[in-house]
Amino acid sequence: MPNGTATKMWALPNATLTVPQSLLAHGGADELVEIPCPAYLIEHPKGLVLFDTGCHPAAADDPVGHWGPFAEALQINYPKELLLDRQIQALGYKMDDIKYVIVSHLHLDHTGYLHAFPNAKFLIMENELRYAYWPDTHLRDVFVFKDIVPTRNFDWLELQGDFDVFGDSSLHLLKTPGHTPGESSLYVHLPNRSILLVGDTLHLRMQFDTLAGMPLDTDPAQSSLSIQRIKALRDLHEASVWISHDPEDWVEFPHAPAPIE
Ligand SMILES: [Zn+2]
Repeated sequence: MPNGTATKMWALPNATLTVPQSLLAHGGADELVEIPCPAYLIEHPKGLVLFDTGCHPAAADDPVGHWGPFAEALQINYPKELLLDRQIQALGYKMDDIKYVIVSHLHLDHTGYLHAFPNAKFLIMENELRYAYWPDTHLRDVFVFKDIVPTRNFDWLELQGDFDVFGDSSLHLLKTPGHTPGESSLYVHLPNRSILLVGDTLHLRMQFDTLAGMPLDTDPAQSSLSIQRIKALRDLHEASVWISHDPEDWVEFPHAPAPIE
């Protein structure tokens, strides 16, 4: 079996949101926590890959105008220097250098820059695009049409299950549904370490103990199974798990401009 590696990865800071811990995980406290919404840029010999795309630049100036009333519950903080295009350019790349965009799911804090890569190939698990267009009524405010509709004619590849992105085991997209129907995680094999980027499969480390999802999950039972899957893969591959929104993880791992190798 081929055993390639990605060359390096950068975690790109983006907006932060401030929300009650109880919105992030069942069993969470009422206290407010400020959470990161990072994107990840991954360098591979066959091309540059972006995992998730942060928040839309319009949400920096007028969150309610762009996101709708749900924005009031999120208390976004989005300094201009953290706009995704500026972060990518600061590393010496152009937006057009990115060949593949992988989207963990289509919630509004992950879809902000989908529109900015008209020439890239997009990878996503099946059912996510359809669900985002017509979500369950009580969850529809978490999806923003304005982010998704401009990508309708982009080159989307919808996957039915796990997918070895470059065929060399370096980047493995994993089906981890429950938070949304097409939620996915990305296993990244780097020269010196392996990292599981879990998107919103978990929001806080405490969920490894509770095995419980969060209040906005579409399918709580699937969420719990996906958390167990991440735990098993973590142990099997001796990988580090990076929970995108967990403030402790953000502090623990290096982020741009420092690469992870
Ligand atoms: Zn989400």
